[in-house]
Order: sequence, then structure tokens, then C-alpha cells
Amino acid sequence: MGLALGIRQRLLASHLFAVVVLAGAFGAFVYYTAAKQVVERLHAQLSASAALVAQSFDPASLTAADRDAAARHALVERLQGAARNNTDIARVYVIKIEAGNMDAGAERVIASSDVGSESIALLSAENRLSMRAPVPGDGGYVVGIEMRSTEAAEKLYILRLSAALAFLACVLAALILSRHLAGRFLSRINDLVARCRALANGDPLPPRWPGPRDELDNLAREFDAMAGRLRHAAQSLREANEHLESRVRERTAALESATVQLKNEIEGRVHVEALLAEAALTDPLTGLLNRRAMMEMLGQASARLKPGEPGLSVIVADIDHFKRVNDLHGHGVGDQVLAAVGGRLREFSGDQQHNVARWGGEEFLILLPGVRLAAACKRAEQVRRGVAELSVGAEGLRVTLSLGVAELLAGEALDVCLRRCDQAMYRAKDAGRDTVVAAQGALFATMS
Ligand code: GH3
Ligand code: MG
Ligand code: MG
Repeated sequence: MGLALGIRQRLLASHLFAVVVLAGAFGAFVYYTAAKQVVERLHAQLSASAALVAQSFDPASLTAADRDAAARHALVERLQGAARNNTDIARVYVIKIEAGNMDAGAERVIASSDVGSESIALLSAENRLSMRAPVPGDGGYVVGIEMRSTEAAEKLYILRLSAALAFLACVLAALILSRHLAGRFLSRINDLVARCRALANGDPLPPRWPGPRDELDNLAREFDAMAGRLRHAAQSLREANEHLESRVRERTAALESATVQLKNEIEGRVHVEALLAEAALTDPLTGLLNRRAMMEMLGQASARLKPGEPGLSVIVADIDHFKRVNDLHGHGVGDQVLAAVGGRLREFSGDQQHNVARWGGEEFLILLPGVRLAAACKRAEQVRRGVAELSVGAEGLRVTLSLGVAELLAGEALDVCLRRCDQAMYRAKDAGRDTVVAAQGALFATMS
């Protein structure tokens, strides 16, 4: 799992890493080189001083000092004087090395500024620098100078301090540089983020970064160009959408109006067809079924008959002396009488209005399905009375009916039954009109 570091932290980490690795390695190299140079220079100085002191002695006086205590004392004082003249010098001494033998064990201290030192082993303390130079001549004498290491230590300390300070300065510089770079980088990134947000919200794009043109500026320019193209495309899309919507609205309105028109047309046609259908089946003067419709009704009723069940009866009613009405009162009044009689017949038929028809000029037929002859005669009598009571128009015209009644006999054809019914009606005319006559088979019976 990677660390969730921000740009600021990453830049800081990379700069610190570079400083630690590069500055650390380079600084260490420079430090050790400088330290080495310091020590070498001190060695060179010490070596020159030792050579200078060695040249100031002559081997004969040293041989004397080796043998004589007074001469040695004088030598010690001379060495102490040399040591006093240079505060960095810790000790100056003279040793003798037996000829052909340079081993440490063959060395012998003749004199030392540091009185009491009998061994040169003491002279090579770790915190001191030491250098020797042979006294000219072949006496085997060597002058040694030991230097206090404080100067070297101080120089090395200053060197270390400088190195540490330089390192810290590098770290500080890395810190400042990384912060500065991160700030510049982040402000550009934030500028891009603000552009994205403005594009998403449909706001105008913020002004571009005024600084020098670089990769991020190129990116912002490309983004602006892309935003422009996107907005242009969105605008075109919006316009196309609006255009499409208005077209759809127009088409919908046109379609709705066409639908309404079509609906009205269909309703009109249905109405006309209904009127036509009604007209085909209805008598326009009385509103009753016409002869054709009644023939259809009679056919259907006889077809529905079942053996052993009551069949059907018919009544034929004819207005008496109707010709006189026309002759005396005019054809219009005659029509009024026909309409009034038709209305009365409809009233008597109740909810079976479709069983009453205008059968001819002033002739009507009533179909009574499932009604036997006797009941049909009773109905005919009611009709006769009802029409006789009728008074038509302002003049109060009165008319009567002659009615024939017949029941369809088992196995009898419909037209035979209708013929018998007609005959019964003519019998009623013959009987003096305003009468009901029933056809009982081939016989006729006057009812009233
Ligand atoms: P009857 O008592 O014997 O039936 O005598 P009638 O006068 O009623 O019979 P007729 O057959 O002699 O006359 C029938 C008349 O009915 C003749 C005709 O002008 C008339 N008529 C038929 N249809 C119409 C009609 O639609 N309107 C009018 N006003 N009269 C009609
Ligand atoms: Mg008549
Ligand atoms: Mg008639």
C-alpha cells in the first residue's frame, strides 16, 4: 500500500533525499580531503622545524652532552628554549640511534625539553604530532619535535563545524526550494482544478496563469480549447434539442388536431350510420318498426320457438274509415292521427316497443312472443279501447280500430298465420268495425 503523500511532501522528500545523499557524500569527501591536507601541512611544517633545529646542532656537542652531565644540562636548556619559542611545540628532544639499527629498541634519549622523560614512547601520545630529522653528520643523532595537537584539532573542529553548517544550509535550502516549487506547482494545479470546476458548473473559465509558458500552461491552454469545443457542442446540442422539441410539439399539436378531426368525423359517420340503420328499420312518421324490420323480428321469434313451449301470437290493427279522415281534414291531419295511434300502441307495448310496427298505410302489427291466443285477445281489447279513447289535435278527432288476433299453430308457416290474422281483422270490419276478432284455427270468434 503506497503512502498518500501530497505534492508538497513528495517534493520535500525528494529534495531532502538528494541533499542527504549528494551533499552528505560530497561533504564527507571534501571534509576528509581537507582534514588530510591540514594534517599533511602540519607534518610538513613540523618536519621543516625539526630539520631546522637538527641543523643548528653539531654532532660533537651532542656526543659531549651524551657523556657529560653539564653539557647535557646545557643541551636541555637549549631544547627548552626552542620549545618555549613556539607555543605549539610540546617537546623537543634528541635521541641517538645506533648505526645500522633503526629499531625502536636501539634508540636512546640524549636530552629532552620535557625534563624527566626517559622514554620516547612517552613522546608519541595520541593527541600529539611528532616529526624527526637527523642531525647532519654521522653521529646517529636525531632531533624530534612533538607538537601539541590543539591547533590541528581546532582546524579540524572548524572544518567539521563548517561541514555541518554547510549541510544544514543545504537542508534549509532544500526545504525552502521544495516549498517554493511545491507552491508554484500547486497553484498551477489549483488553477486547473478551478478550470475543471468552472466547466462542470457552466461558469466562465478563470483568467489564465500570467507566468511563463511551460508544460502546465500548455495543459491549461489545451484544456481551455477543449472546454470551448465542449461548450460549443453543448450549445449546438441544446439548440438542436430545442428545435426538435418545438418540432415534436408542432407535430403533436397537428396530430392531436387531426385526431380530434378524425374522431369527430368518425362520430359523425357513426351517427349518420346509426341514423341510416334506424331509418332502414324505422317508420319515420310513427317512430315504430317498419314492415321490413317487423318481418325480421317475426322470423327471429318463430326461429326461437321450442316444441312444447308457448309459441307466439300476432295482432293486426287497421284504422276504421281512415280515408274519410284524410278526405274531411286533410292529409296532414291524417298523418297526425297515424302518429297518435302509433304512440298509443307503443304505450301499450311497454318495454316491448320493438314488437310494434307500422305494417301498411293505416295498418299496424303487434308481435306477442310466448303469449297464447286468449291473452293476446285481451291485449287486443285493451288496445282497441285505448285508441277509441284517443282524441287527436285541436278538433279532438276520434278514431277506432278493427283488430284481428291469431296464434302461430304448431308446424304452421308464419305467412299462413299472418294471413289468418288478416282474415280475422277483415271479419272485424265486416262485424261493424271497432271490434276484435280471434282466428281460432280456421274459425273466427268476435270478441267485442
Ligand atoms: P276501412 O275502414 O275499410 O279500412 O276504410 P278505410 O278508409 O280506412 O280504408 P281504405 O283502404 O279505403 O283507405 C285507406 C286510406 O288510408 C287510403 C290512403 O289515402 C290512406 N293512407 C294510407 N297511408 C297514408 C298516410 O301515410 N297518410 C295519410 N294521411 N293517409 C294515408
Ligand atoms: Mg282502414
Ligand atoms: Mg287498410
